[in-house]
Amino acid sequence: MTQYVFFFGGGKADGNKDMKDTLGGKGSGLAEMTNAGVPVPPGFTISTQACNAYYASGGKLPGEVDQQMDAALAKLEALQGRKLGDASDPLLVSVRSGSKFSMPGMMDTILNLGMNDRSVEGVKRKTGNGRFAKDSYRRFIQMYGNVVLGIDKEKFEHELTAAKKKYRAKTDVDLGEQALDDVIARYKIVVEKESHHPFPQDPREQLVGARDAVFKSWMNPRAITYRKLNDIPHDLGTAVNVQAMVFGNMGDSSATGVGFTRNPSTGAREFYGEFLQNAQGEDVVSGVRTPHPITDLAGVMPKAYQQLRDITTRLERHYKDVQDFEFTIQENTLYMLQTRNGKRTGLAAINIAVDMCEEGLLTKKEALLKVEPQALDQLLHPIFDPKARKGAPVAAKGLPASPGAATGTIVFTADEAVAWAQKGKRVVLVRMETVPDDIHGMSVAQGVLTATGGMTSHAAVVGRQMGKPSVVGCGALDINAKARTLKVDGKTLKEGDPISIDGSTGEVILKALPTSASEVIQVVEGRLSAEKSPIYQKFEKLLGWADEVRRLGIRANADVPKDAKVAFGFGARGIGLCRTEHMFFGADRLPHVVKMILAAARGQRGLDLTRRLKERLKEAKGGQAAEIKKELAKVEKEYGKHVKDYTTALKKLEPMQKADFMGLFKEMHGSPVTIRTLDPPLHEFLPKREELMVEIATLKAQRGSKGKGTIAAKEKLLRAVEELHEFNPMLGHRGCRLGITYPEITKMQARAIFEAALAVSKKGIPVKPEVMIPLVGHVEELKRQKAIVLEAAREVLGPDGSGVDYLIGTMIEVPRGAVTADEIAKEAQFFSFGTNDLTQMGFGLSRDDASKFLLYYQEHGLLDRDPFVTIDAAGVGLLVKIGVQKGRSVKKDLKIGVCGEHGGDPASIRFFHEVGLDYVSCSPYRVPIARLAAAQAQLEQKASD
Ligand code: PEP
Ligand code: MG
Repeated sequence: MTQYVFFFGGGKADGNKDMKDTLGGKGSGLAEMTNAGVPVPPGFTISTQACNAYYASGGKLPGEVDQQMDAALAKLEALQGRKLGDASDPLLVSVRSGSKFSMPGMMDTILNLGMNDRSVEGVKRKTGNGRFAKDSYRRFIQMYGNVVLGIDKEKFEHELTAAKKKYRAKTDVDLGEQALDDVIARYKIVVEKESHHPFPQDPREQLVGARDAVFKSWMNPRAITYRKLNDIPHDLGTAVNVQAMVFGNMGDSSATGVGFTRNPSTGAREFYGEFLQNAQGEDVVSGVRTPHPITDLAGVMPKAYQQLRDITTRLERHYKDVQDFEFTIQENTLYMLQTRNGKRTGLAAINIAVDMCEEGLLTKKEALLKVEPQALDQLLHPIFDPKARKGAPVAAKGLPASPGAATGTIVFTADEAVAWAQKGKRVVLVRMETVPDDIHGMSVAQGVLTATGGMTSHAAVVGRQMGKPSVVGCGALDINAKARTLKVDGKTLKEGDPISIDGSTGEVILKALPTSASEVIQVVEGRLSAEKSPIYQKFEKLLGWADEVRRLGIRANADVPKDAKVAFGFGARGIGLCRTEHMFFGADRLPHVVKMILAAARGQRGLDLTRRLKERLKEAKGGQAAEIKKELAKVEKEYGKHVKDYTTALKKLEPMQKADFMGLFKEMHGSPVTIRTLDPPLHEFLPKREELMVEIATLKAQRGSKGKGTIAAKEKLLRAVEELHEFNPMLGHRGCRLGITYPEITKMQARAIFEAALAVSKKGIPVKPEVMIPLVGHVEELKRQKAIVLEAAREVLGPDGSGVDYLIGTMIEVPRGAVTADEIAKEAQFFSFGTNDLTQMGFGLSRDDASKFLLYYQEHGLLDRDPFVTIDAAGVGLLVKIGVQKGRSVKKDLKIGVCGEHGGDPASIRFFHEVGLDYVSCSPYRVPIARLAAAQAQLEQKASD
């Protein structure tokens, strides 16, 4: 027979703390406390399995549940020496929900059950307090009427207000016994009218009604939404706890309160909470009366206070965690009503974990498991002033792409962002979407808000990399960049109007909110010394413990030395991805990049033809040689200018790239630096087609003769833009396909890498360059690019390599690359999974367009999570697994990492740990999260081994 009902009381319980699945958090806590000898009012828990059975059979329970419940009730009555609803000295019970994970306030609770017309007199007689008895009864009718019978609360409130008026009572407390009799009579009329039945007097009927109502509340819309928001599965069900009532409102020797064993906001080791004398639980939280600090209880009821301190300290030690508890003191006797691990801020989590370890309560490993990796984020980003945030209405919500608080004035273009910033203004860049070209605007903005794009859209990736608060894919924004207006929530805002965004929640607020800077960031950036920041010290101590445990290496995705420095400060030991294209957008480089692009096709053709002809010339004799020379002259005439433009532009870029790479090598102090050759389609570096057309038309309309040269140049640019236009650029001429068709670009980049490595190593700083070829789907692609890189290495480093140890490897980000990884591994010295593209191509989801339906997919249960955030283990993850297995089948020790956005996501990190990657690489600001998540992955694997 299935056990559905679990008793606790008299020093013994059927359950324990490890039965949260069956008893819920509250039920298992009550059982555990009972077993530990803590004074807990006795009762019983009806299991989550009963809840699930209730739903499975369309709202009916197996007969065993009723039988077991009746038996448990009889046991409870015997233990208490009182009967539920008895006329002389009744037992009253509370009926509360309690699921595995706490869902505060989402489900229903009924107190004072067992009250009826007869038992109310019994309570009055027994307590000698008629007002108390009547008030308890009227509260019960109200609660039962609302929760079980579904009667609108307002109907009861209406009667209560009428009674208060009639009896000239200012508050509920001013209503005397007689007035309360009147309220009870009024309430009973409400119940009869609304439910077409008199208020149930039979205590068992009341109990069954309350129990079923709690089960029903598992599926109320509020609870469903809460579960969605917190990733709690819908099939867990709730338990129901039926427990003997104790009263904190039986005069001045009674009280009730809530508390924490440590401060949940800061983590300080202080007894924290509130209480009220002569009150019931709900009075403490409802705000009707102002509760007192819990420490004041020491003066009012010293014995009970001391007992509470002793018990809660014991519970903290028992659970090895901060306890969030509820208690009631009934006529000087203390009862614990609940204990659970307390929720806390990121700051508190770190303080508490480190303190508890130093107090000997936790081992280092246990401490590491107490902190949610994601919570570390809260310590890194500016935060809104909590008071100001509370009262501010939310106008719209997008995807929380990069956490932190940003407030400033609205600007609609990157250039405007820079212009406003130069005037000392704080700006928030609001765009339909961002493109690499916006980087300068993004870098000066406090935050970035876009109407389209997903969690791996440009704005999101760059926002995270820069640690810039970003909200993306906020569909409710109606942006008119031309008119410089933003319509949202029925309001029209213009450039210069204030706006605030919360990158941790995705919320948009239409006013300026004060923020404060993160102390940890200040230390990492060298603006504050570590000794002056106790929280930084704790943060680093915990992460130091993580480093002792984790197997995965942690690297960062960083493109410029500034980011690399921050990454190193956060503990990254290596760069897993330098996207070289981001360097191309600097004001001093872009003109050369554009020149290179404009000349690339013809320039490269000229170079190739010349090379081939010159080779033939070497062998040629007599008339044949003269013929070839003629052809060479023709090629020179046709392509000479393009070749010159192309090679000059590349020559200009080479030293600039070299300087960038030197900076990266220096900031990494000898850790590996993976530099990827050019990846994005070339048109990304050119102006937009439509913009150019408008410009040309405007210039022509002005018809000034001076504009002729400009018009011609713009028209040439437009032709190039049109030539480069692609229908699907993400699957087009990008990645290694660029380097294959324009080998000079790869050559220039490889030369710059080796020149930088040589220059830095000559200064005595060790260097470990790793050249990475993107988007390889066929081994031949890698083979050819590798040949170019090797040639550049020989040219720059000489035949002996000049002491520079380098590797040449590839990204695995095309499904074909993953499934032919054994072929590819023959040519590669390392793999790095580009899980952004692998998700895009594996799933067939455009990473820039998917936000339009991915949110719908998640809301409607098609997908649990955004696959661009957490790796889709079963599908895309399988491609990773295959890639690892195949790669290592050829090279046993092949170094393998990941540099897609998933490298900074704790759940994905666990997956990468399990499939045996060597390292994860993520944006600099996620490095601490990755360090902790990697340690937890190792500890959890050990625990399950
Ligand atoms: C990837 O595809 O995962 C990757 C890291 O490259 P990018 O995001 O630059 O395409
Ligand atoms: Mg990619």
